[in-house]
Amino acid sequence: MSTSERIVIIGGGLAGAKTAEALRNHGHTGSVTLIAAEHHLPYERPPMSKDYLAGKVPFDSAVVHAQSWYDEQHVVLRQGVSATAIDTGAHSVTLDDGTSLPYDKLVLATGSAVRTLPIDGADADNVHYLRTVEDADAIRATFGPGKRLVVIGGGWIGLEVTAAARAADTTVTILEGLELPLLRVLGPTIAQVFADLHVAHGVELRTAVRIAAIDTSGPHATGVRLEGGEVIPADAIVIGVGVSPVTDLAEAAGIAVDNGVLVDGSLRTSDPDVYAVGDIANHDHPVLGHRVRVEHWATALNQPAAAVAALLGGEEQYTELPYFYTDQYDLGCEYIGHATGPDDRVVVRGDLASREFVAFWMDRDDRILAAMNVNVWDVIDRIKPLIAARRSVDPVGLADPAAPYEQL
Ligand SMILES: Cc1cc2nc3c(=O)[nH]c(=O)nc-3n(C[C@H](O)[C@H](O)[C@H](O)COP(=O)(O)OP(=O)(O)OC[C@H]3O[C@@H](n4cnc5c(N)ncnc54)[C@H](O)[C@@H]3O)c2cc1C
Repeated sequence: MSTSERIVIIGGGLAGAKTAEALRNHGHTGSVTLIAAEHHLPYERPPMSKDYLAGKVPFDSAVVHAQSWYDEQHVVLRQGVSATAIDTGAHSVTLDDGTSLPYDKLVLATGSAVRTLPIDGADADNVHYLRTVEDADAIRATFGPGKRLVVIGGGWIGLEVTAAARAADTTVTILEGLELPLLRVLGPTIAQVFADLHVAHGVELRTAVRIAAIDTSGPHATGVRLEGGEVIPADAIVIGVGVSPVTDLAEAAGIAVDNGVLVDGSLRTSDPDVYAVGDIANHDHPVLGHRVRVEHWATALNQPAAAVAALLGGEEQYTELPYFYTDQYDLGCEYIGHATGPDDRVVVRGDLASREFVAFWMDRDDRILAAMNVNVWDVIDRIKPLIAARRSVDPVGLADPAAPYEQL
């Protein structure tokens, strides 16, 4: 491919910024334009529910590249501008400022949008969702001793917000629809660890509850009403009930979409000149042997290099296993692989009660699907080959802390 080709990236999150970086790293000398709806330099979201939310680090520390990097690399960053349509036939993108932009190759990195809760009162001014830095600022302002925060949804975001709020001495109630937080992703054994962690830090954890409405007084929410009539009083409410991939542009352009934008092993969409990376990419994973769409930081960080290599004419496939991390109070953990459901068998190496262990999710043939190390470090690189090999592993040896991973 000619290095003079024009490349447009839609979406100024981590995946978009990393795509621009990968293009220059791979020696692309043609134009690179990054269309970014937010009025900020592209930034990383994990701190928005952790250290930035807790007021421990400034926004600048979350920024992927300083403005000087875009200037030096001749990457045109269009902040506060949205793409509104793609014409794949004409190879052009329409922007919301009325202009349009021609491309030779297009990379979609439009990420996710929060799922909203369709209940009365959810539009009150002290009801918050968390996706952007503005959301994090608004939520931080609700923290403090004597303030009552109700968190709806015991997923990763809800639990991380809870930990940050408790660190600021906020009174927190979590309302979760299932029997345990994170039950669907972790299954009962490991989900219980997270439930115990939050209760030990003074959180009121209410599980298996049904929410009827948010009570309001004028524009403000005053509490969350459960089915049955009980009201949990609140000075503020955070709703964390998941996200959905932003695929409207791709879909309207006729690009194949099904739970995200469908991409092949090299992150190419159904249109050979269009690629998709990050949260939106429903990727035909060459190692896992099935499609996977991952809403995690490491995917947004690492997929762009593979997409760019393919886009510039190589045949690289993206083979990294899904990975993510979380920090809550004094618990830090990493997760690698892809467990399929709460019924997978879990093998534990270490001690659940002291929250120092590695958990493995196994299929019925004793193959490791995924692993999570909790307050145990430097093991991911030794576990990865066991997952990637997709072979049976002796569960007894796996549970034995004395058995080296390399000999399993
Ligand atoms: C608060 C929070 C904490 C998280 N913590 C963790 C964590 O601890 N570990 C982990 O692994 N993952 C975490 N994640 C998930 C991780 O941040 C995401 O997987 C990652 O941000 C995905 O990057 P992305 O670039 O694909 O999408 P996004 O970050 O969603 O960025 C997409 C960008 O595209 C823009 N955009 C969308 N449509 C258009 C358009 N038409 N025109 C122009 N721009 C457009 C959006 O405004 C947005 O800025 C967290 C997410 C959040 C919100």
